[in-house]
Amino acid sequence: MGATYIGRFAPSPTGPLHAGSLVAALASWLDARAHGGRWLVRIEDVDIPRCAPGAAETILQQLTACGLVPDEEPVWQSRRGALYQAALDQLVSESRAYPCACSRKDIEEALAAQGHPRARHAELVYPGTCRLGLGGRPARAWRFKTEPGLIEWHDRRLGAQQQDLAREVGDFVLKRADGLWAYQLAVVVDDAQQGITQIVRGEDLADNTARQIVLQQALRLPTPGYLHTALVLGPNGEKLSKQNGARPLDTSRPLLALNAAAQVLGLPEQRLSTAQALASWQAQWRDSYNLPGD
Ligand code: GLU
Repeated sequence: MGATYIGRFAPSPTGPLHAGSLVAALASWLDARAHGGRWLVRIEDVDIPRCAPGAAETILQQLTACGLVPDEEPVWQSRRGALYQAALDQLVSESRAYPCACSRKDIEEALAAQGHPRARHAELVYPGTCRLGLGGRPARAWRFKTEPGLIEWHDRRLGAQQQDLAREVGDFVLKRADGLWAYQLAVVVDDAQQGITQIVRGEDLADNTARQIVLQQALRLPTPGYLHTALVLGPNGEKLSKQNGARPLDTSRPLLALNAAAQVLGLPEQRLSTAQALASWQAQWRDSYNLPGD
């Protein structure tokens, strides 16, 4: 077991906790407690237009009602812009980030000119237009300069993972055209600044990991361990979310909510106590404890 374990739950306050987000909260809490570590909560409210008024406070109350109480005061990303700016300045000064003048339409046109079919609703792989300069246009966003080659990492549940970032994602945004900080930069800066050693979060976030690892490396920050948990699926077979009908967690019956979350995590007991949940978690993940980053 690592000497110091610091874990975190990092909700975006777009609405109250629901059955799906409780799974990530419980898993990160269990893993921290099973390691005798600390557990922090970070409110990821950088994407202000998507945040719902009062949602962060509701989430903190819901966590408390479930007995998931952080070891420190929660931090709020909306108050940490200076840290993100310092990281961007460092990347720019080392030529790892550059300004971009392209609109979505510019990117679609450049991709079409290169013969790439236009995938509706799909994320566009940035063709690198502004790497060569802005061509006299005003800067809108800032992008990270990706390099060719496979990024490989180990996930404690999913096993060996890899992604060819330059080909599959392209130069990704660090600061958006609307002036807001991108999730990728904020999460990497905060995880390092808070000393997070293990990231436990939902599997839907797994494909951000390669971007976060290259950013950690470019900023000379440590790479934590990763465990991406199973998701709760909604009636349409997609990840449960507010958009597909997830109801806010009923915290008048916290044990019921916690047991449902524990079952998604493969902890078999019905009506289990927190101590039993911890014992099952330790048994289930014992072999994955002493990995690099642990
Ligand atoms: N704020 C992100 C979300 O709620 C989670 C980020 C993370 O755990 O890295 O989806």
